[in-house]
Amino acid sequence: PVDRMPEIQEARLRLPVLAEEQVIMEAVRENPCIVLCGETGSGKTTQMPQFLYEAGYASGKGIIGITEPRRVAAVSMSQRVAMEMNLPTQVVSYQIRYEGNVTTDTKIKFMTDGVLLKEIQKDFLLQHYSVIIIDEAHERSVYTDILIGLLSRIVPLRNKKGLPMKLIIMSATLRVEDFTDNKKLFPSPPPVIKVDARQFPVSIHFNKRTPMEDYVGEIFHKTCKIHRMLPPGGILVFLTGQAEVHDVCRRLRKAFPFRRSTTDTGEEEETFKDTRRFKKDKQKQAVALPRIHLDNYSALPVDEGDEDRLAGVDDDECGYEGCELDLGEDEGDPDEKADPSIPLYVLPLYSLLAPEQQAKVFQASPAGTRLCVVATNVAETSLTIPGIKYVVDCGRVKKRYYDRVTGVSSFKVSWTSQASANQRAGRAGRTEPGHCYRLFSSAVFGDFSEFSEAEITRRPVEDLVLQMKDLNIDKVVNFPFPTAPSGEALMAAEQLLVSLGALEEPPRTGRVKDIERAKLSCPVTPLGRAMASFPVAPRFAKMLALGRQQDCLPYVIAVVASMTVREIFEDLERPAASEDESSKLAQNKARLMQMRRLWAGQGPSLLLGDLMVLLGAVGACEYAGCTPQFCETNGLRYKAMVEIRRLRGQLTNAVNAVCSEGGVFVDSKMAPPTESQVICLRQILLAGLGDHLARRIREEEILDPKWKNGYKTPLLDDPVFIHPSSALFKKPPEFVVYQEVMETTKMYMRVVSAVEPE
Ligand code: ADP
Ligand code: MG
Repeated sequence: PVDRMPEIQEARLRLPVLAEEQVIMEAVRENPCIVLCGETGSGKTTQMPQFLYEAGYASGKGIIGITEPRRVAAVSMSQRVAMEMNLPTQVVSYQIRYEGNVTTDTKIKFMTDGVLLKEIQKDFLLQHYSVIIIDEAHERSVYTDILIGLLSRIVPLRNKKGLPMKLIIMSATLRVEDFTDNKKLFPSPPPVIKVDARQFPVSIHFNKRTPMEDYVGEIFHKTCKIHRMLPPGGILVFLTGQAEVHDVCRRLRKAFPFRRSTTDTGEEEETFKDTRRFKKDKQKQAVALPRIHLDNYSALPVDEGDEDRLAGVDDDECGYEGCELDLGEDEGDPDEKADPSIPLYVLPLYSLLAPEQQAKVFQASPAGTRLCVVATNVAETSLTIPGIKYVVDCGRVKKRYYDRVTGVSSFKVSWTSQASANQRAGRAGRTEPGHCYRLFSSAVFGDFSEFSEAEITRRPVEDLVLQMKDLNIDKVVNFPFPTAPSGEALMAAEQLLVSLGALEEPPRTGRVKDIERAKLSCPVTPLGRAMASFPVAPRFAKMLALGRQQDCLPYVIAVVASMTVREIFEDLERPAASEDESSKLAQNKARLMQMRRLWAGQGPSLLLGDLMVLLGAVGACEYAGCTPQFCETNGLRYKAMVEIRRLRGQLTNAVNAVCSEGGVFVDSKMAPPTESQVICLRQILLAGLGDHLARRIREEEILDPKWKNGYKTPLLDDPVFIHPSSALFKKPPEFVVYQEVMETTKMYMRVVSAVEPE
């Protein structure tokens, strides 16, 4: 029996899913798998685990598992459910990539989908669980799709073995045909239960014209206008990334500043002190190496927060603490003038934001202020923010795009889908009728695609293919994907894995048809199994597997960790806000470039190029204790460095688990590699990135002046370039290997090292 607080019980009764509890639980009893559809905010995530708990699904040996595509949701939802059920977090717990609070008493476990995938690798039958809930299935994240495919097989197997198990797929949209009308996935379609949310009407206001240039500025003005003219009610703003979120937060705070008045309750003050204390504690914690348990890791949630990391903005400026009231300047724009008479309580929300900052959106805003949450896609379906009456939607989303053939990737801001825009609008009608202001015209909306496509069709799949082969799923083409990746993508993945030695070579002789078929069902090699146990992409896993030569492992681990974490350096090209700042930046830039040259080393290590810079930066930062101060003075992103530190610990554990006699450890005083180690490192690099080779274009080959200093790659027609910030920019070698090609203003290679032709 659950002993809930009366006010919680009252709030629950207002949730639409509660009215359907009996129908839902009966369907669960009678079917191995069900699909539950309900608007965001109808209570799926918080209530479904409670229904199951109260029906006894966690009272036997198995527990209730629930997966989220985002770490944010796994953490905050576990806390919310623990609170609602009046149970400690030892019982309602979470597990994400690096951390968790799961204990032997855990009965309800929230986790990212990557964590569950890793658990399937350890125990295919998931005997620890009596129910798995797949949440946010409509997001169609790659791991969610794979999990549904795997569970469609695991559940019948479990039931056949007399170890009953249930699967619940939850979606915020009604578009679930990919799961239900897919005979390969579920031969008999699972029942779909729809929960009707009490949605209040939302009036949609389209812009007459669609701003193409400064939509961020336009968002700011629209929000100012709403705040000035419209009745009370929270505002939720949708933007595409962390940098935009901070920009708008800063401008709004400046326009409508509020000071905590002395009449505020002392409680308010307390929370402020708490936050400060928390921040301090966190800095202290960061100095001690984190303890990492081997079963604590998951596959990397690929791409999660990438859009934020790429933006390269830190979130330290996001609190009100230390935020100065800037009243002086007049920039000519009336909206930029400070008007403290109508304070606005502005909060950012994005996936990489620290949990205690995220939690603020659920708390009541200070008396006399209006709440305004400036968010990325996170707020679209994962989190429900109370009290929102106005939504301002830029209509765009930032996504990573890959060219399947060339492997070139780029982040692009593009129009979202109609379904997404409608989800965003729906956030306004939860507590009373609301309004949604779209910063685009209805004609433009008409051109949006109807739905967003499944992620699996948009990215390379070599990591997934290797994980699946490690589960002995040899014929990945036959796997019951809700939406299958293209044959082309699967073939490219198998070829890469064969060339890395992770899969056995297909036979070269025999009937053409057999050869073709064999190419798509190569079994995993022992090397491949070792690689699959490392939580990084196969190319990097290969480097780790080779790292034992010449005692190179600590270097390889550091290099792989820093290549996996996006953008460890602050952006030196950042536009300055004023002339004064611009001269400061220029001075700083010269010093930081000098620093990077120092890290690049001398003699043979110069050939390692950007890789040596990474090694030098990581080594120096760790030597200095990885403090925020060190990072700031040396142009490093503190968050990236902390993540590298965690990854180093994690990869070290993973490597030691594979070869027990290894005995590698994370050395905070790592010496630079010796000459022979540098040679060895270059070979290891080539083993992982062998197909990412580029040759400098010779004078006589230059067909276009733009090709000067360009490099030729096997797959691209157009040349690629070394970025001016690269250690090898000034002395471009004849042959280089690169981590990836990223298209920004030009096609640039990222992380470049020299190689000698053989
Ligand atoms: P769904 O999963 O269907 O989108 P949820 O179960 O996440 O819905 O949320 C149900 C309700 O619980 C929401 O309307 C929201 O108001 C409330 N809620 C969820 N999380 C929190 C929280 N951390 N603090 C306060 N209220 C919350
Ligand atoms: Mg939910």
